[in-house]
Amino acid sequence: MSSILRSPSVVIIGAGMTGILMVIKLRKAGITDITVLEKKDKIGGTWRENTYPGVACDVPAHMYTYSFEPNPNWSNFFARGGEIQQYFEHVVEKYDVKRSIRFNETVTDARYKEGQWIIETEKNKTYLADFMVCATGILHHPAFPDIEGLNDFKGEMFHTAQWNHDVDINQGKRVGVIGTGSTAAQAIPELINSGADVSVFQRTPQWLMPMRDFSVSEKMKKRMNKYPSLVKLMRKSSIFTMEHFFTKAVTGHFFQKKLLESLCKMNLRLSIKDRSLRDKLTPNYQVGCKRVIINKTFYKAIQKPNAHLITEGIERITDKGIITQDGKLHELDVLVLSTGFHPFNFMRPMNLIGREELHIEEAWSDKIKAYRSMLLPNYPNFFLMLGPNTPIGNFSVIAMSEVQGDYIIKIIDKWRENEFDEVEPKPSAIEAFNDYVKKGLKGTSWVGGCQSWYLDKDGDPVLWPYTWGRWVDEMAEPQMNDLITSKIDAKKHDNKAA
Ligand code: NAP
Repeated sequence: MSSILRSPSVVIIGAGMTGILMVIKLRKAGITDITVLEKKDKIGGTWRENTYPGVACDVPAHMYTYSFEPNPNWSNFFARGGEIQQYFEHVVEKYDVKRSIRFNETVTDARYKEGQWIIETEKNKTYLADFMVCATGILHHPAFPDIEGLNDFKGEMFHTAQWNHDVDINQGKRVGVIGTGSTAAQAIPELINSGADVSVFQRTPQWLMPMRDFSVSEKMKKRMNKYPSLVKLMRKSSIFTMEHFFTKAVTGHFFQKKLLESLCKMNLRLSIKDRSLRDKLTPNYQVGCKRVIINKTFYKAIQKPNAHLITEGIERITDKGIITQDGKLHELDVLVLSTGFHPFNFMRPMNLIGREELHIEEAWSDKIKAYRSMLLPNYPNFFLMLGPNTPIGNFSVIAMSEVQGDYIIKIIDKWRENEFDEVEPKPSAIEAFNDYVKKGLKGTSWVGGCQSWYLDKDGDPVLWPYTWGRWVDEMAEPQMNDLITSKIDAKKHDNKAA
């Protein structure tokens, strides 16, 4: 190993949870030339965007926290969105991350040329980098339903990820909600509890796993501050439960699967008294096929007199409201679209151009895939965080990002040690990885007869089908045999020697 390390420039796209994490990790590794390009004027990604009533994280708070920055002050077992945003703002402040961020910089093009990434933004600024990390998140482009007449509606209409807080929702209002996913399950009870008359338009019922949230008393917070081991214990026990129960339940482990199934079925049976309402809320696919919704408020709220579950199917939307397939007009003042996201956009719509002018649309025209979810052939020195096949059931994406961050740094370290100038995966390695993942997917609940955002256009779930432990083990060291490394013009990087 050379005693003089080269010093790379790194551009990170996105200042959400993963982008912030990468700045901290890279600096810790001794890399200082870091620029984060953030399209908005604020950090936070998904937690900045999603401010709908009831927004919370369904992963226990102490687990949905950076391992190096525990938070003894979480107010709830499942943290609320606003508090998570505050947590990230606190981390950014404490670790002085902001000095690396350029706000209001939307990346339009990123092109790899002669050992360098040339990154252009909407403001016509150009940034150069030895490495580019896309920390653009998974669910950040709201999906609007393709329903006839959507734009004819004359009342207030917005997507849950673009909540309009100027619209007062109260007793006098008739509110329609399209969608019954994780977001809707959190928002609908809040709308119903506001006293508004709420019509929920359900296309497909969901399985709900009951888990009561609890608030943390000031006395308990003081204790957590005094005894950090308590925070560690909370974190460890949450990780243990998610790893050995939830993740296993949806990846083909018989006992956990049966237990989850029984809990969800019992939850529905015990929570919904009315037989016909229960029938409407009963899914016809196996538990875990769609992302399991962890929720204790939806069933209670939907039984209130000001709530209506509508399952007739939407025919079209008019200026006044929604017409269902039975010909009935449901008049509305407010229409909330809780219709999810485009999960396969990743870094797009940016023009990502690799070797030989290869555009990402072309690279992914057949299938969206990445070696170890992060590396793409023909895109040297490029890493996509939380890429395809990263999500692991209901596990914490923060924990996944930390593992990916360490993996990236191990590769960059080899560049710093002058082992190579360019690194990318072998095409055979990405195929082998894909086959390996596909083999595991057969036994999972995600192929259990439902439509969900987990599935790509071939019907293959873009998730990790094995255990969390296996993922961590396999990501512990980059398998350099799977990668192509090369040196380019020797002079080019001379000036980068520290
Ligand atoms: P989602 O799970 O994709 O749900 C979208 C909903 O909209 C579904 O009920 C879907 O029905 C319905 N829908 C879509 N198009 C429709 C149309 N044209 N007509 C009628 N209904 C339509 O989206 P989401 O609820 O926003 O959740 C997405 C993901 O975000 C979650 O799975 C989770 O990973 C994440 N999330 C996490 C949390 C958390 O607590 N950590 C909270 C919220 C969201 P079908 O089922 O019939 O397609």
